[in-house]
Amino acid sequence: MILLVDDDVMVRLMAAEALIASGFEVMEAADGEQALELFDRHEFSLVLLDVSLGGIDGFEVCRQMRERPHGRSLPIIMLTAMDDTHSIDSAYSLGATDFVTKPLNWTLLVYRVRYALRAAHTVADLETSERRLAVAQRVARLGGWLWHVDEDRCERSKICLDLWGDTPGSLHEVPFGLLSRVLSPDRQHLREAMERAREGEPYQMSFRVQRDEGTVVTLYEQALPVRDEFGRVVRIEGVTQDVTEREQAQRRIRFLAYHDSLTGLANRQMFREMLDHTLARSQRTGSRCALLYLDLDRLKRINDSYGHTLGDQILREVATRLIASIRSADLVAHDDSLHEEVVARLGGDEFTVLLTDLSRAEDAARVAARICAELGRPLQVAHVELVVTASIGIAIFPDNGADPETLLRHADMAMYAAKQRGRNTYEFFTEAMQQQAVERLSLEQDLARALESGQFSLHYQPQVDAGSGRIVSAEALLRWEHPQRGMVSPVQFIPVAEETGLIVPLGEWVVLTACRQMAEWRQAGLPVVPVAVNLSAHNFRSDSLLTSIAHALESTGLPSSYLHVELTESAVMQEPEAAMKTLGALKAIGLKLSIDDFGTGYSSLSTLKQFPIDLLKIDRSFVRDLPEDGSSASIVEAILALANALGLGVVAEGVETAAQRDFLCSRRCGLMQGYLFSKPLPADGFAGLLGAVPRYA
Ligand code: C2E
Ligand code: MG
Ligand code: MG
Repeated sequence: MILLVDDDVMVRLMAAEALIASGFEVMEAADGEQALELFDRHEFSLVLLDVSLGGIDGFEVCRQMRERPHGRSLPIIMLTAMDDTHSIDSAYSLGATDFVTKPLNWTLLVYRVRYALRAAHTVADLETSERRLAVAQRVARLGGWLWHVDEDRCERSKICLDLWGDTPGSLHEVPFGLLSRVLSPDRQHLREAMERAREGEPYQMSFRVQRDEGTVVTLYEQALPVRDEFGRVVRIEGVTQDVTEREQAQRRIRFLAYHDSLTGLANRQMFREMLDHTLARSQRTGSRCALLYLDLDRLKRINDSYGHTLGDQILREVATRLIASIRSADLVAHDDSLHEEVVARLGGDEFTVLLTDLSRAEDAARVAARICAELGRPLQVAHVELVVTASIGIAIFPDNGADPETLLRHADMAMYAAKQRGRNTYEFFTEAMQQQAVERLSLEQDLARALESGQFSLHYQPQVDAGSGRIVSAEALLRWEHPQRGMVSPVQFIPVAEETGLIVPLGEWVVLTACRQMAEWRQAGLPVVPVAVNLSAHNFRSDSLLTSIAHALESTGLPSSYLHVELTESAVMQEPEAAMKTLGALKAIGLKLSIDDFGTGYSSLSTLKQFPIDLLKIDRSFVRDLPEDGSSASIVEAILALANALGLGVVAEGVETAAQRDFLCSRRCGLMQGYLFSKPLPADGFAGLLGAVPRYA
């Protein structure tokens, strides 16, 4: 609706006609008073207003309309006399949108009206989008600013002021003045960026700002220099955003990516980067470093017996102690930035310590010894007192390896050697270890082929009832005839087979071979005795154990009572719950079960009591020093008493002398195995024993 104000009836008539013909609705007013009254009651999209009216004139009407809220932005077109430039100026200054000169050209008038309406729409749209933008900026905490380069003055939006913690009219309107609150070293960077922006170079950077009330925020700023037509930078337009939270989240993510979440130590990734960096630096400066590779002894056992929660607590305590022992060893990491990253947890129970700028290799030994001592102190977690020890391998750069991989591998080798030497100790890497590792690798490779090449055989050692001299059973012992090395001891190759996984098929081979042998002897009419096979913990845990045993018995037609199984204490104690099930299943097939090397492990009596076992084998190490050694004697007596209480049979291993035999007989341990009676013999030799009359009495 258009409001048409003119005191000339003729003009009103003609104008209204032209506008209505073009599709507009029109309301007319003959004077200013009537115009304002209509203006307040109706909603108009445009006003055509004659300057000269009776009563209040057009200028005054325009001014009053503009003061009303709904009159602020609608187009007001003034109608003036052609030569009256003075009124044109006045009209504009009072807020008129446009003017049309009289006498009116009706066609042109309609165009002017259309154009004014379109422009008004555009402005309205613009206002809407500006409002939206402002809302969006508020939500995004995005503050805009303008830096007028010539005036060295900065104009900042409300949000921008908020971001800096400023109030409108605060002192920091001089762009470079703001710098005083930027924290160094960001301050210098920002200053340089601002200086370059004045030369026309855009920038985007984040920096930390200390607000007046004390908080520190991280702001991200993008700035774009704007040039005039002569190419001079006249102003710089920019936006500033609060990225404190985002920054914190990123920092946290970075921390998580580079740290072990359990202990907060550097993780493997970070450690590798550190190592690369440190070695490169040491290379440049010609200094030495030491890599300590640390493995906790028997953490797995603790985890198994007390649960992972306690295991986790222990790992955390170990981390704390490690750091403490590194700190107190004042020779570490003179470079402060490296201090925190010196200790890392590679995973599981493996840790590394990196010592830089080492003056002497012995310093590494000092640190290692300190760590051993520190860790060796009893540790109290969740009402349990435990001792956790570590085995440490040390490799020196560049002596023991010039690159990270080699150094790590060698430190690991040295750690392995420390473990072998009896744990809770440290070892420096030596060439001999390298030699040994090479040796071991070739052993591994040979072992992988040995089974299919038929290099294994079983020897049989009788277990004798010392009273009667009768062979009551035998133990099958694995032998490896290596084409070049000759006989390799199971003590050497069983651990390797366990680590490579070969032990599973190998164990199955042992069971099957022993069963076949017994079946053969039976067919030959020999008085066969049951044969005990040794199963390692790996066999014991293997899924195929039961089926392979059942298959061996079935395929040979051997009654299950002929097959005995020997398991070490540690094999069954590793996972007592699972062991209980497997033992039960073996028992159900009809096998007899013995605990091998008894006395060397950590059996818990209560657990032992629940296992369906038949026999304990007293370890050779207790028999060896009988009967002279008092403590061996009392251990043997204790084991016998225990077996008696639990209703178990006992076999003494490694009986070599008559004195040992007599001692054992006097303590009513009748079953024995050892060189005194017979060494382990090849199948033929043992068959000879079976066929012979008892001669060991
Ligand atoms: P083990 O099961 O305790 O076997 C007894 C070991 O003591 C055998 O050593 C045997 O030859 C030795 N021995 C027997 N009587 C005497 C003696 O009077 N004096 C001395 N000094 N030693 C005696 P071997 O055959 O070298 O086997 C060593 C270990 O290797 C075995 O200890 C067993 O743990 C393991 N082993 C042997 N065969 C197998 C097998 O088929 N499977 C698995 N998993 N382990 C096996
Ligand atoms: Mg054995
Ligand atoms: Mg044994």
